[in-house]
Amino acid sequence: MADTVRFAPSPTGKLHIGNVRTALYNWFEAGKGGRFILRFDDTDTGRSEQRYADQITADMAWLGIMPDLVVRQSDRLGLYDAAADRLRDAGLLYPCFETPEELERKRVRQRARGLPPIYDRAALALGTDEKAALEAEGRRPHWRFKLPDGPRTFADRCRESLTVNLGALSDPVLIREDGSYLYTLTSVVDDADLGVTLVVRGEDHVTNTGVQIALFEALGAPVPAFAHHNLLTRTDGEPLSKRDNPLSIRALAAAGFEPMAVASLGALTGTSHPVAPAADLAALASTVSLGDMSRGPAMFDPAELERLNAAIVHALPVAAIERELAEQGLAGPEAAAFWETVQGNLTFRHELGGWAERLAQAPDTVMAGADPLSAEDRAVVAAAAEALPAEPWDDATFGAWTKAVRAETGAKGKALFMPLRRALTGTASGPELGPWLHLLGRQRALDRLSAALN
Ligand code: GLU
Repeated sequence: MADTVRFAPSPTGKLHIGNVRTALYNWFEAGKGGRFILRFDDTDTGRSEQRYADQITADMAWLGIMPDLVVRQSDRLGLYDAAADRLRDAGLLYPCFETPEELERKRVRQRARGLPPIYDRAALALGTDEKAALEAEGRRPHWRFKLPDGPRTFADRCRESLTVNLGALSDPVLIREDGSYLYTLTSVVDDADLGVTLVVRGEDHVTNTGVQIALFEALGAPVPAFAHHNLLTRTDGEPLSKRDNPLSIRALAAAGFEPMAVASLGALTGTSHPVAPAADLAALASTVSLGDMSRGPAMFDPAELERLNAAIVHALPVAAIERELAEQGLAGPEAAAFWETVQGNLTFRHELGGWAERLAQAPDTVMAGADPLSAEDRAVVAAAAEALPAEPWDDATFGAWTKAVRAETGAKGKALFMPLRRALTGTASGPELGPWLHLLGRQRALDRLSAALN
């Protein structure tokens, strides 16, 4: 079914991996022939900033999400004015004059009497003169929506159905004292105006949905379908917040994470599918759907991201990494052989630079700063230099060479391979030694073996 969906971040901070989950599920639904709207919920002018909106747009593009339409609520105030007038005319939006302190005192009294601390609708009873008197005192009203009573049950595409008891909620404030609108209203007005047919958002919005369905109805607008996904949390159960900076999309991109590692984790965690890297967003969209969401929170360990990233890098074809290889001066068959040799050792693609540098190093710098070789190691390296076969080399060369060194020195296993590795790479762990030897070629290998003995 072709739905019009929207992703509606408030530009008050950076997008983090939890927001990605919402954006992706909307994107997947839009991908079924529908439309994707990016809406900036920026009516909170004190906290909204253009730089955050710009960063969000860039983050979405990095993930591969290209909105069909971008709107911002601050451009649409006339629509909210008109909707507020309609609600006022219907007697469903009423002015209230209580100060925050007065409201708090009411709640304290209600709790003391064992009552739920919901707004008592005292302002509904104010007569025209009383309101005029309060305004004359200098009080400015805030405006509340008169909720219908009783439970609201609605279908949810992530589960069967949900119920919100509107009778247990305070009438929500839709307009602040300063005349600015609250999200509860603006979101409904926009969803109606933009023809949104499906709202996909986190389950922290379930109560809002009950309230907003009542608002759609009060405004005579068609009620969209809803899907509330479970929320990504850390394994310690803490929800992710905008303050979780290392998990902001921007920080993850800067650290070198692949967009599909972030997207796969964001979409697959807390579903009936294993968290494995998908090739692209289309593959992810065909794997997972709203109905696959688990009931509990979607817990993840940030270390999982590295696992996914490594798996993606290990499978990257050389064509996908040509630019980075060229930056290291590697091209053509040499670049392909290099990539094939090192990719299995990398977590991030940028780490290839370190191995390119090791490959290009001058022989006498390879072991600079490393612990000197022991007498046994020196014997192995000396025998290896002696036994290094003449070119041309083939697939059997490395095996034949190390066998000869073993026969000569009696060293085997780690005692054989570690000194060779250290002499040829300058470090104790890294790519497979056979392919690395081929990358070096006979002369460079021989120079390194000799240099290690100096
Ligand atoms: N601006 C709201 C938020 O970021 C949007 C929620 C919604 O999707 O309606 O929580």
